[in-house]
Amino acid sequence: MRLLLGTVVLAAGLSAQTTNSPADPVRTVVGRLELDRYKAHIKGLSQFGDRMQGTERNRRAIDWLDNQLGSFGYTNVQRHRFMSGSGPLENIYATKIGTTIPGEIYIVSAHMDGRGGGEAADDDGAGCAVVLELARVLGMPDVQTDRSVRFMFWNNEEFGMDGSGTYASERAPLQGTAAEPKWLGVIQHDMMMFDHGMPPGPKQSPNADIDIEYQRSSRMADDSAKLAAALHAANRAYARYPATVGADMAGTDSIRFEDLVASVSVRENERVIEIVRGSNPNHHQPTDKYENYAEEDFRFGFNSAQTTLGALGQLAGITLARPR
Ligand SMILES: [Zn+2]
Repeated sequence: MRLLLGTVVLAAGLSAQTTNSPADPVRTVVGRLELDRYKAHIKGLSQFGDRMQGTERNRRAIDWLDNQLGSFGYTNVQRHRFMSGSGPLENIYATKIGTTIPGEIYIVSAHMDGRGGGEAADDDGAGCAVVLELARVLGMPDVQTDRSVRFMFWNNEEFGMDGSGTYASERAPLQGTAAEPKWLGVIQHDMMMFDHGMPPGPKQSPNADIDIEYQRSSRMADDSAKLAAALHAANRAYARYPATVGADMAGTDSIRFEDLVASVSVRENERVIEIVRGSNPNHHQPTDKYENYAEEDFRFGFNSAQTTLGALGQLAGITLARPR
């Protein structure tokens, strides 16, 4: 009995200690992600329709992203102008500056353009919402990262991937200079919400899983596999829906980096064997609208935010400043 009492007191002491100084700051920060905010980011982008490159809808969506990033406290929002096959366009990004190793950076990305005449809600409002929600939480004044994290919104993924392609080719040789930090990894988010099985059913598949892919035939395959493994481990620790790692990353902006730096895509389904074969009936259709996704679809997409933020916790090093 005395022994048991001692154990209870010890356990109570431990838990009080844990509350006062969190043993895992990453878990604390992941816990600040909010599903309602994630949905609001998607809704916010959906208001501009499909955001096709070269349109007023596209330009207004960039201004909206600029305002959002500013509202999260970022004073370093930048636009990367480039000449695409569709005319002059802009990528937009903000950067969380690392406290101890600011010259090394992870690029966390999605594409802000879309197509299909609907709202491009899933492709790729849902990926942009992951990046926005990470930017919001990592922008909180008490959150620090050892290394830098860049929140990147590519333009014109849909008709050439030249936003990412131009950035990669222009900036790769500048790495390590004042103009560009050294890249440690690219984590792209493109179509996050819809895993209704194959062929797709009306409801979310009971086996819905997040697909993390790298490209086995790329020059950086080994490093990319390690990045994918870090995301997989974070998924187990911080998210509820499971993740599956594949080695055939394709059809999204991260392929522009696959021979330069560790690169992965995070998606609702595998590109080659599922998405291309019709796993999402809304893909590039007028039906890719916010209203056509159910609560569990949003929750599934939100799990990718938990997964990537958890991985950044280890990779970029997330710490919490002590309360003053
Ligand atoms: Zn896409």
